[in-house]
Amino acid sequence: MAIDFQRLRAALKILAQMPAPFEGGCLCGAVRYRCDAAPIWSGHCHCDSCKKLSGAPFTTAFTVKTDAFHILSGDTLVFERGAEGGHAVRTRRCSGCGTWVWAERDARPDFRAVLAPTLDAPLALPLVAHAYVLQASPWITLDPELTQFQKMPEDELPPPKA
Ligand SMILES: [Zn+2]
Repeated sequence: MAIDFQRLRAALKILAQMPAPFEGGCLCGAVRYRCDAAPIWSGHCHCDSCKKLSGAPFTTAFTVKTDAFHILSGDTLVFERGAEGGHAVRTRRCSGCGTWVWAERDARPDFRAVLAPTLDAPLALPLVAHAYVLQASPWITLDPELTQFQKMPEDELPPPKA
């Protein structure tokens, strides 16, 4: 399916207007974070790794610049795995309750991918896209308002402005 860039740009513009700062945290409350800038990306990921890591049919996350993402409290457990191109991907979970809070990719050190359900107000997050619809579970219906990417959006788009 061809990417509707007009719709994508409109969704990104709405996301860029998300009021900041905003905060979130894990289930037990030990891990808390604050974002000082609006996310640069958001959406659902349907890849098989996200399914395994979350135990759910897909994950919903947002991407924020690393220098705008601040851990306020709590210790995290790190799970590192290799990804395409040999770059490591680390997932960070609360060491107390195990909530998956964010992920880091060596290929894109300037950004953090934060799990949207950890937000204090998750419904305030505007969503932009579906990633990895190639592996989307047939159990769910995709929101047709969001732009769909067969794999990772950065494979099909120019890199975001830092
Ligand atoms: Zn916790």
